[in-house]
Parts: sequence; structure tokens; C-alpha cells
Amino acid sequence: MRTVNVPLGARSYAIKIGPHLLRRLGAECARLKLGQRCAIITDTNVGRRYARPAFDSLARAGFCPALVILNPGEATKHPRSAAQCYDRLADHRLERRSFIVALGGGVVGDLAGFVAATYLRGIPFVQVPTTLLAQVDSSVGGKVGVNLKAGKNLVGAFHQPQLVLCDLDTLRTLPEREFRAGLAEVVKYGIIYDADLFGRLERELPRLLRRDARALGAVIARCCEIKARIVAQDETESGLRSILNFGHTIGHALEAISHYGRYLHGEAIAIGQVAAARLSVQQLGLPRAQLERIIALLERIGLPTQVRLNARQRQKLFAAMRLDKKVRGGQIRFVLAKRIGQVVWGQHVPDELIEAALDGTIPDGGTSTARARRAGARPASA
Ligand code: ADP
Ligand code: ZN
Repeated sequence: MRTVNVPLGARSYAIKIGPHLLRRLGAECARLKLGQRCAIITDTNVGRRYARPAFDSLARAGFCPALVILNPGEATKHPRSAAQCYDRLADHRLERRSFIVALGGGVVGDLAGFVAATYLRGIPFVQVPTTLLAQVDSSVGGKVGVNLKAGKNLVGAFHQPQLVLCDLDTLRTLPEREFRAGLAEVVKYGIIYDADLFGRLERELPRLLRRDARALGAVIARCCEIKARIVAQDETESGLRSILNFGHTIGHALEAISHYGRYLHGEAIAIGQVAAARLSVQQLGLPRAQLERIIALLERIGLPTQVRLNARQRQKLFAAMRLDKKVRGGQIRFVLAKRIGQVVWGQHVPDELIEAALDGTIPDGGTSTARARRAGARPASA
């Protein structure tokens, strides 16, 4: 087992990564000095497989768990489900020292974390992420929340867990498409922070795709370490933390205009990362060979790297990018790479270059507007 610490003063916690951790859930929670009552929040897909071992482990350690099982899918990340959970917690008489166990992917983790942040003005919670995406990303860092009709994660809080347990065995039952989508987020860590990790992904991809526990454990631990380091320096995203959004400006907008139906999050950010890498070649001199490596790795994972949009979709995409929570004063800001392993945030990019990056026409010479701009000429028309 590997342990990564998230150093946040009084709110510090450990992320434990390894096989067979679910059966140790109760013993691990016992070390946290929490109340006896708790609630496991999960969804039907995960609950069917893992609620029993989680429940039994907690009971063996002397806890008194309630089980709350929700429907799977993004629609569950809604204030309505939170209200449902509050009622169950109250029925089960959870009090201030009681705790919640979030057992599932990002949807369950964000919702259960939000419930924990708000029930009785906040009770402790433990994350047991069961998707690759949740293990490397959403379960670490304390962002919790639910969606509104107007957009994703519009209601939420920063509420750090007491512990994160990443049981590698649970990844075995994850659908192939979900697993590959999770790898998009892993590739992101290589690009934003760690060229060695990127190289390791290139070398070990076949083992990772076989879900070899040793290879996966090392990579997941490294991603958590990177996220922990970033979050420790900038818990509430006033600067550095925004580098975690590499590929997400376009990725989030693509998810939004396809009504969260066509692409999984990881697939959308794969496309977003390639577009951001193209912009990086243009704007920051990311070596072309490194752009090619990024595209090749994502393609080997089986992720999409390009999108074809008609004029209407394109318009909607730009509108969606401007609606992003992170936009200030109508300016879209990008995280761009100088080279694999090093990025800068807050980069402004002209709209026509974003279009050219989406089309794949940069860095190959660019659109006529972009070419004109580079040549120092004024564009022919505005
Ligand atoms: P994410 O973690 O990518 O944000 P979700 O929480 O929506 O996504 O989980 C993706 C899907 O995978 C959901 O249908 C969920 O029920 C299912 N799921 C999560 N973990 C597992 C697992 N370990 N085995 C099988 N299915 C899982
Ligand atoms: Zn993401």
C-alpha cells in the first residue's frame, strides 16, 4: 500500500492506495476517532458490488452504518438527491461526530461530500473512490457540489475528507470506456507537472490498460501526490490550482454543448488537451514533437483527439466557454504548456486561434487570419 499525505494544517489527511483496502475500511475509520453512526452513500452499480464488503467492514469495527443507494449517473448530482440523503441521515440519527462514506465514482463523491459539508453545517466524510477518474482527481482536494439546470457544480463547497481509500481491486469492474476516460486525467498530470510520469505512461501503457495493480498503484499515487502538492499550495484556487484545468476550458464546453450525452468527461478533456497543446505550440513554443507525443499517447489510449463542429455548434461552444465559472470579465483564460511537464495559467488567446486549434489547422500554418497575425499584418476582415 502507498500513502500520500495532503498537508492542509488541521485539515490534513491521507490518501491510501493499494489492493484489498475495502475490507480495511472499518479499521481505517476507527483510527480517525469518529462517532459510531455513519452512512454509506453509493449508487446501484457500485452498491451491488461493494456495499456489502464496505458495510461489513464498518460493522466489524464497531460502527453502525446506514446504506443510501442512489441511481447512477450525472442526474443524481442534484440538490434533490442531497435532500433525499439529508432525510436518511436524520432518520438514522447521524449527529455532529457521525460520518459519511462516499463509495463510488465522481458523482457519488461530489454529492456525498456536499451532503457531508452541509448536513448539521458539516460532518466528517471518507472518500472511497471506485473509478480511475475519482481516484486520481475528484476525491482529492475537497471540491464538492451538485449541479443546477444552469450548469454543473454551481452549488458547492470546499470540504476536505478525513481519509481517501483507493482500492485498486474496485477498478477491475469499471467499464472499459470509463477506465480509458480516466486515463485522460492521468495524462494531464504528466503534461502539467511531470515529464517523467508522461514518459512512464508512454512506456507502461499496455500494463496500465491491462489494469495491472502494481503499474496502476504507482501511477495513481503519483497523480495524487501531484494534486496534493498543488492543492496544498492553493486550496481554494486563487492561482496555481487552476493548472489542473489544462484541457478543461474547451473540454467542459464540449460536454455542455453535447448536453453531457456524447462524451465522457475524460473524452472531452482529451480533445481539450490536444487543442490546448496546439495553442501551446503557437503561443508558447511547445515543441511540435511534444504535441505529437501528446496526440499519440491519447490515441493509443483510444481517446478522441479531434472534433468536427459546424458553425452553429462552434458558436455554442464559444458561448459555453464564456459561461465557465472561471471566466472573469468575459475573457477566456487558458492553461498552456511550455513543454511537457511545465505549464502556465491565465493565458489569453484570440478566438480565431482557438478555432484554428479546434480545426487542427495550427500549428500547421494556421488559418489565414492567424497567418496574417503572425506575419504582423492586419486581418483582412474583422
Ligand atoms: P466519474 O467517476 O467518472 O465522475 P461516475 O461516478 O458517474 O463517474 O461513475 C461512472 C459510472 O461507473 C457510473 O455508472 C458508476 O455507477 C459506475 N462505476 C463506478 N465505479 C465502478 C466500479 N468500480 N465498477 C463498476 N462500475 C462502476
Ligand atoms: Zn477533469
